[in-house]
Amino acid sequence: MGELDGRTALVTGGSRGIGRAIALRLAADGALVAVHYGDNEAAAAETVALIAKAGGRAFPVRARFGDGDAVDRLLEGLTAGLAEHDQDGLDILVNNAGIHLAGSIARITEEEFDRLMAINVRAPLFVIQRTLPLLRDGGRIVTVASAAARIGSPVQIGYTLSKAAVAALAAPLANELGRRGITVNTVNPGVILTDMTSPWTGVPEAMAGLEAITALGRVGLPEDVADVVGFLVGPQGRWVTGQTLDASGGTYLGPIPPEA
Ligand code: NAD
Repeated sequence: MGELDGRTALVTGGSRGIGRAIALRLAADGALVAVHYGDNEAAAAETVALIAKAGGRAFPVRARFGDGDAVDRLLEGLTAGLAEHDQDGLDILVNNAGIHLAGSIARITEEEFDRLMAINVRAPLFVIQRTLPLLRDGGRIVTVASAAARIGSPVQIGYTLSKAAVAALAAPLANELGRRGITVNTVNPGVILTDMTSPWTGVPEAMAGLEAITALGRVGLPEDVADVVGFLVGPQGRWVTGQTLDASGGTYLGPIPPEA
């Protein structure tokens, strides 16, 4: 018996990286998982196959955030996939899909900023709005933002703003939905080894610098974040709502003594 037996979940951006690890974790706990993706159909199919191989249940849903009809496409694919599995409701929504963009205040363009906001903020907001009618009492909403919202990094100003904005969804929605037993939280990862970070995690000096500012002394893995999300969406997460959980291994907490 898994903790999420009989539950249904949607993981946006569940095809790769952190989202894939979350999809695998929720499926291993017993949930039927809708694995959403933007363009990479092969990656989504691989995630679904990995889940099936482990004895779980999942189906892919395609919708390219940033396109005008993306949320409509998502809802169509989600409801059709749920119906194929004799389901018509959702218990868990994980807003994980997102993009990163490096850029200082001097370099960021209005087009880049609009794209960051469209994918990292607008899409999760309207995915929540449109899935709410499906969300059952006792449900869970988790949004993956970023520790960037806490750390003042001047070289990713647009990304930082987008993640701070999306993190602000949790408190008002927690108040709106709490009487139905629905919790709403944000998880803020630090640097995690995925496609998104490969341009700089492949550089040994950059890795050493990241390790040096992290209390736990290493860069994170997708599963480090998936386990935090798994806790929040499971029965043991029932008393946490409207919060932001930092899942960064203690990145940039303050000076680490040289002898540590
Ligand atoms: P990734 O690039 O490996 O995967 C991104 C996922 O988002 C993919 O599944 C992709 O399908 C989806 N996606 C991207 N653009 C999309 C679009 N236009 N439409 C639909 N889907 C789209 O990234 P990741 O590292 O796994 O990041 C996942 C989330 O975690 C993101 O929101 C990211 O900002 C956040 N995050 C990542 C890190 C990190 O260090 N990797 C740190 C903090 C926060």
